[in-house]
Amino acid sequence: MADRRVDPDDGAAYTWEEFSAFYKGKYKRKAVEEYWEECKPVKKSKAKKGDAKGAGKGEPKAKAKVKAKAEPKAKAKAKAKARKPPGAFKVCVCGGAGGIGQPLSMFMALDPNVKELSVFDLNIAMVPPTGVAADLGHLDKKSEVKGYVCEVGKPAVTELDKECLTGCSLVLIPAGMPRKPGQTRDDLFKINADIAKGLVEACAKYCPEAIVALIVNPVNSIVPAMAELYIKKGLDPMKIVGVTTLDCVRASKFVGQITGKNPNFINVPVIGGHAGVTIMPVFSQDKTAATIDKDKIEALDKRVQDAGTEVVEAKNGKGSATLSMGYAGARLGRSILAGLAGRRRVECAYVKSDITDLPYFTSKVVFGESGVQKVLPIGELNEYETTRLEAAKVALKIEIETGLTYAKANELNC
Ligand code: NAD
Repeated sequence: MADRRVDPDDGAAYTWEEFSAFYKGKYKRKAVEEYWEECKPVKKSKAKKGDAKGAGKGEPKAKAKVKAKAEPKAKAKAKAKARKPPGAFKVCVCGGAGGIGQPLSMFMALDPNVKELSVFDLNIAMVPPTGVAADLGHLDKKSEVKGYVCEVGKPAVTELDKECLTGCSLVLIPAGMPRKPGQTRDDLFKINADIAKGLVEACAKYCPEAIVALIVNPVNSIVPAMAELYIKKGLDPMKIVGVTTLDCVRASKFVGQITGKNPNFINVPVIGGHAGVTIMPVFSQDKTAATIDKDKIEALDKRVQDAGTEVVEAKNGKGSATLSMGYAGARLGRSILAGLAGRRRVECAYVKSDITDLPYFTSKVVFGESGVQKVLPIGELNEYETTRLEAAKVALKIEIETGLTYAKANELNC
């Protein structure tokens, strides 16, 4: 059977011949080939004998032939109407010269929806952000990459070149300190909340309509803090999005390892929050994960929660998850931009929410033309997951409170 792939643009499956015929003349062949590589292959089902299209159903052979010829044409016509041009968005990565920031900037520079990329970091970063920008600026992609630097300790809202954020549709923020051994979550929160506030302040001034995707930890407290500061400023709190994609990426990968299946076809939603017990993979909602023995689920659940430690230990304490986080952050970034360009995407994210009794929660979110289009409900849970959800909510509630208290005591100075 010829390789068929799903075009995320319309969700339909095509062979390379149909796909390239449709895009011929609209885009350069190289771009079409690259796009084809991004499309997920259709799983080959074990076809029953005589179950080929048109056969076995009493349909005359000739008719089936005509249909086979006509179908791609009709599909191509319908697609021509539905096709939206790629976006031309400006994106900023704050902390773009850091461990996460560099791979994240690279992935974003490769995104066909990105016209301009700002790489912003401090003058104490391990590499000057202008250097990262010069490096990425040599990629043969349409994105134009510019570097911006700010002196440590100076407020971005007044000291950062306003060109950096002006016109941005998406700002990704991995700027912040990773947790050091012996440091409490509260110590980390105080440092990173002030860093995030400084950057969110600048976003509120120069790109208040942008989606601000926060990677900086502890996400469970920083997101409520920044969203409430946006509310105090009269801005839309739904523009503030907590990046939890790495939990989904890990859950799907680990399920793939256990089942021997390709993680490309596994999509485990991870709900709740983004630290320890608040990370709650919903294995029952993915058809591959749902086949795993019940007695293995608790250990798998724990592995997803503690996956960050696996990386810290493997790196001998000399770093944390930066490459996988860069990948995961970019997956969310790409989905947000696709949504803004009119091609809706669903990803788990931690946002202001009313689907549970907690004011902030991670669940599936529809990203569309205006960013967060819809926060989807949790869906059905099995017995184990129902109990787990209660434990996750108890811990998450406390962490949300920390964020809300910070927002009460602070203002965005812009
Ligand atoms: P890093 O130290 O390698 O990089 C952080 C970068 O941010 C540095 O280049 C630093 O100069 C810059 N920075 C700090 N303050 C800034 C400011 N005010 N303005 C602009 N840039 C600033 O750290 P990292 O490993 O890349 O981690 C960054 C953050 O991401 C940490 O808080 C970490 O805990 C968090 N993290 C989140 C996830 C997640 O899943 N959400 C996963 C891993 C790490």
